Amino acid sequence: PPLLKRSIVSVVGTEGAVREGNVFRVMQWNILAQALSQADDSFVRCPPAALDWDVRKYRILEEILAYNSDILCFQEVDHYHDFLEPALKSLGYHGLFYPKPDSPALYCPNNNGPDGCALFFKKEKFSLVDADGIVLSVGGFETNQVALFAKLQFSDPSTGGAKSFVVGVTHLKARKGWERLRTEQGKDLLKQTQKFSGKGTPVVLCGDFNAQPAEEVYSVMSKSKMKLNSAYKSLSADRTSEPVYTTWTVRTDGEWRQTLDYIFFSKEKFQVETCLEIPTEELVGETRFPSHTYPSDHLSLVCDFKQI
Ligand code: NDP
Ligand code: CA
Repeated sequence: PPLLKRSIVSVVGTEGAVREGNVFRVMQWNILAQALSQADDSFVRCPPAALDWDVRKYRILEEILAYNSDILCFQEVDHYHDFLEPALKSLGYHGLFYPKPDSPALYCPNNNGPDGCALFFKKEKFSLVDADGIVLSVGGFETNQVALFAKLQFSDPSTGGAKSFVVGVTHLKARKGWERLRTEQGKDLLKQTQKFSGKGTPVVLCGDFNAQPAEEVYSVMSKSKMKLNSAYKSLSADRTSEPVYTTWTVRTDGEWRQTLDYIFFSKEKFQVETCLEIPTEELVGETRFPSHTYPSDHLSLVCDFKQI
């Protein structure tokens, strides 16, 4: 069956249309680690054939290429060196990868190494000023979660004095019972972002935060001194609500429909121009995710940002 199709919708009001600036497209996506998909995850409704790597890897690539983003922020990447990096390099992207210190993928049969965060950008659009991979620390101890940062500069000289900006990608600790840890990881993420970017540099922070909007870490991110907003709120009628779901799975312990993925951005430095819509329940289908029509249990989020 064809891949789940979604439209990119404009979210700018008339007040935004007059502003000038550089536009770039960002994709945030937990692509689902191959090793975890076949061992730990137990997606009970997903046909095993849909999890066959030789099929799924092309579906992942299809989803990435469908939206032609300038920047790609991924979690659960466990086929960076042997697939994603060479494939995307041939298409003009430069990639960075930072593995988790003790990736759960390593404990799965037939694993392909640790999973981690990956960040890609189009070489024709940006040059890399600086990059860093970090382990998130809580109470002075390193956790098993990471973040990856890149400082990017527009390469087109006609963009004039366009400022460089920082893109970050992270994947916070999963599961119930770890809310306090996620809160502290969020605080460290902000601290490390600030340290990497320096004061006043615009930031875009993408991640699978493993937390619904009501959880404390979401407020940590959205109410910080860094003045961040969450891009997908622009998609709601009142511009203040997150989507109803960014992941929808059926596991042995039941059905899980949650919003866990976000693209935070400096609200005084960027304007959200478009968002890739969230599919309706009908389009998601009975299998939920992953399925033959969608290769991950998380939806990709795609936004056009204008630097203002
Ligand atoms: P996390 O707890 O953050 O999660 C690891 C992965 O599990 C994530 O990618 C997450 O996906 C996924 N996940 C979330 N909920 C479920 C669920 N209900 N069922 C199955 N998978 C789920 O990992 P840590 O980095 O803290 O590593 C801890 C895990 O690593 C342990 O839970 C264990 O499974 C594994 N491990 C095993 C060892 C062993 O000897 N067997 C040793 C060390 C670790 P998402 O983010 O998309 O929700
Ligand atoms: Ca997962």
